[in-house]
Amino acid sequence: MITTEKEEKQGSAPIRQNADSPRQKLRALIVEDNSSDVELVLHALRKGSFELQSDVVQSAQEFTARVRQNTYDVILSDYRLPGWNGMGTIEILQREALDIPVVIVSGALGDVKAVDCIKQGAADYVLKDHLPRLPESVRRAVREKQLRDEHRHAQEELARSNRDLEQFAYVASHDLQEPLRMVATYTQLLAERYQGKLDQNADKYIHYAVDGAIRMQILVKDLLAFSRVGRQEAVPQPVDCNLVIKTVIANLQAAIGESGAQVLYENLPVIVADHGEMVQLFQNLVANAIKFRSAAPPVIHIVAENQKRDWLFSVTDNGIGIAPEHAEMIFVIFKRLHTHEEYPGSGIGLSICKKIVEKQGGRIWVQSQLGQGSIFHFTFPVKKEVVNP
Ligand code: ADP
Repeated sequence: MITTEKEEKQGSAPIRQNADSPRQKLRALIVEDNSSDVELVLHALRKGSFELQSDVVQSAQEFTARVRQNTYDVILSDYRLPGWNGMGTIEILQREALDIPVVIVSGALGDVKAVDCIKQGAADYVLKDHLPRLPESVRRAVREKQLRDEHRHAQEELARSNRDLEQFAYVASHDLQEPLRMVATYTQLLAERYQGKLDQNADKYIHYAVDGAIRMQILVKDLLAFSRVGRQEAVPQPVDCNLVIKTVIANLQAAIGESGAQVLYENLPVIVADHGEMVQLFQNLVANAIKFRSAAPPVIHIVAENQKRDWLFSVTDNGIGIAPEHAEMIFVIFKRLHTHEEYPGSGIGLSICKKIVEKQGGRIWVQSQLGQGSIFHFTFPVKKEVVNP
């Protein structure tokens, strides 16, 4: 926010530190060619309870050398300087990848220019004949910078912990495959060799062990698929979604044949994406539409609508539907609405879809009522390279 002379007169008085409050340490770099103005700025800050360490520079070269050498909490820059202007400090800071707030301390510039300074990245603009306002302006700029740092730090922490978790899921699911294969193979062998040769309980226990091992294999395979999304940065290429659906239909041939499902689509776009991930995305949605079918044979419609910035894809089915209160929860990994006996599955399919869509900057959601079929919608950003078929 900039405070113009007029506003100050109307009463937005600067908040002053009271005499008892501790002095705040401040390392300031002052960009000013007039030594008496430097004195006035220093005086205003000291009066505002700052314990100051300051350097003064005039030229862009001196400024660059100082910010490379030292760490500053704030830059206080005059606007008009011999051979350059105060906004040049912001360009230099950007070039040097430094985030230091810049407060422009200047004679009257006019509202338009003052607003321009803020738009271009200055933290504030203080008039030289309103220097009592400077301490509060500096305090606010430093506080905002601290908040930016904290936010950045939290984001980095979150990204790091997500990476660790994904790495763990990947390693665990990858390394579990081999021992699990041994368990599954030998329990199946036990079942084949000793079925009916031991007592009834033994048959039951072997059956449980085989069933458990097979389910665990499916779960580990799905978890591996989940943690693989985005691991290898594939170069996005134009992907014809019509061809993607053809592949999906071929992959799901058995389920489609057995259920009598119809998969209808036409004029789907070419989008810039990872082909493998698009197959995975549509295949999970179509497979679910078949798996969660009602008494009628499944009819699945796939359409896409160009909404300028995004493609809106919709996969509609005539299946059992989903109660609206479960609409969000089904996208969470391992969340399922049914027991394994009712419908097999690991509860990972939709979380994979979400990961694929969100990685591209899109959104996925469901629109449904219990018993009335479902529409899964997802958006995909239209990228420049897209060619409409
Ligand atoms: P899974 O299919 O292995 O259970 P998903 O993550 O693919 O896991 O789906 C999560 C849950 O969402 C399913 O268990 C089911 O309850 C519900 N669901 C997904 N797709 C549909 C659909 N087309 N119709 C009805 N329910 C669905």
